[in-house]
Amino acid sequence: MRKNWSLEAIKPISARIEKQLRQIVGEDNFSRQKEDRVCYAYDATRRYCVPEAVVFPENADQVGRILDLASKHGFPVTPRGAGSGMSGGAVAVAHGLIMAMSRFDRIVEIDADNFIGIVQPGVVTGTFQRAVQEHGLLYPPDPSSADFSTLGGNLAECAGGARAVKYGVTRDYVLGLEAVLPTGEIIRTGVQTAKGVVGYDLTRLLVGSEGTLGVITEVTLRLLPQPETVKTLSAVFGSMQQAAQCVVEILRQKIVPRAVEYMDKHAIACVESYLQEGAGKDAEAMLLIEADGTHPEAEEALRRIVGVLEENNAGHIEVARTEEAVQSLWKARKAISPALYTYGPDKINEDIVVPRSRLPEMVDFIGRLGEKTGLTMVSFGHAGDGNIHFNIMYDKASPEQSVAASQAVEEIFDYTLALGGTISGEHGVGIAKAPYMSREIRPETLALMKRIKSAFDPAGILNPGKMLL
Ligand SMILES: Cc1cc2nc3c(=O)[nH]c(=O)nc-3n(C[C@H](O)[C@H](O)[C@H](O)COP(=O)(O)OP(=O)(O)OC[C@H]3O[C@@H](n4cnc5c(N)ncnc54)[C@H](O)[C@@H]3O)c2cc1C
Repeated sequence: MRKNWSLEAIKPISARIEKQLRQIVGEDNFSRQKEDRVCYAYDATRRYCVPEAVVFPENADQVGRILDLASKHGFPVTPRGAGSGMSGGAVAVAHGLIMAMSRFDRIVEIDADNFIGIVQPGVVTGTFQRAVQEHGLLYPPDPSSADFSTLGGNLAECAGGARAVKYGVTRDYVLGLEAVLPTGEIIRTGVQTAKGVVGYDLTRLLVGSEGTLGVITEVTLRLLPQPETVKTLSAVFGSMQQAAQCVVEILRQKIVPRAVEYMDKHAIACVESYLQEGAGKDAEAMLLIEADGTHPEAEEALRRIVGVLEENNAGHIEVARTEEAVQSLWKARKAISPALYTYGPDKINEDIVVPRSRLPEMVDFIGRLGEKTGLTMVSFGHAGDGNIHFNIMYDKASPEQSVAASQAVEEIFDYTLALGGTISGEHGVGIAKAPYMSREIRPETLALMKRIKSAFDPAGILNPGKMLL
């Protein structure tokens, strides 16, 4: 099977091509300045590769002409949203052109009668959430990066987030798309109605394809009515196992909160020192839980959740009574990623998912692995989905720590798969997990994925070096 890219096939952007690119997008929307190229070299993984140039197309037609040129002349193109990706998806590993989607920043329509939003991919997720809220509607996907990541990046990675436990992930809200294929053709997939089944479901194929099959230029999203109210509470525990068991118990009782987030003791400690606030009162573990619905529904859910917490060894339980108290809890949860670097200069960040009932076993395993390696392993995440963000903090400059950290990743992936889990719940494969794809995906399935990639991108120019090696 042909690899989806090879270094030999990659061609540089010649002066002649540069001239054509400038003609397509206009002088202001093309840059070969070093400072621009360096700014667009990274994502949140801290991996970087400096592209040859950055282009800022303004419409699907320009995207099509650029990709047509790329396919004909063999130079690579990497689409990019806000660069907050956790798997290196927007890093131009084969150099070439970064296609920054920031000019696609328009909310085209919010159709409150039909619960539909039509939006361009460069719109920041939080901006869209707030815009639909003004119409009494809810766009449920809520990655912790909502204030800076874009809808295009969310679709490409099929972003999850805290509310997935009740509402599902980005994929569940995408009704249709406009996308540009690597060959330059502009396609439309899906529907702008509540349902539709005509043809293959290319929408679902493109969502989560990590910018390797097409560039998304417009999105039709399904919306829900805003719930009447949301109740938020936190609870601390004497051990991570107790917290994990409590999550299992809440779900076993058929209570479906809209968020069940957890932080282990290392996460609590680093947030406390980062924010200079007492986030978890020196606890070993903490849960942050939200329930929504009508006032009576949310009150009832809250009552039942508190009951389960009390019966399952929770320490201090605090129901947030003011908006300020709610924001303070979420501020602590969202500060974990930046706060982690108090533990070391480098981190390996993974986002495994296990069946929710196996959460206590996984938590136990991570604890033992931390003791065995002597490395600080911080875990937190979307416990209600069985989605654990575990971070191995280490120093790349130490060969021993580097070896121990990568061995730990291998062990965690193997154990995750043995429990019936998956190696990524929402951050995607990108370059970070590409070497591990074959551990989870069978050879026949992997071969089919490579054939699909070739059908969409015969010249192998769109985001090469990602996902399928
Ligand atoms: C602090 C922090 C918290 C986070 N929390 C969460 C979380 O709770 N849940 C979660 O799921 N993720 C989370 N993330 C990861 C990240 O924010 C998401 O993956 C997000 O979807 C990336 O969006 P972006 O706009 O930054 O995309 P980028 O990083 O720019 O790109 C990501 C991928 O999308 C592709 N892409 C971008 N735009 C397009 C387009 N228009 N068409 C085709 N492909 C495109 C790129 O090529 C790349 O492969 C977090 C990240 C950070 C830094």
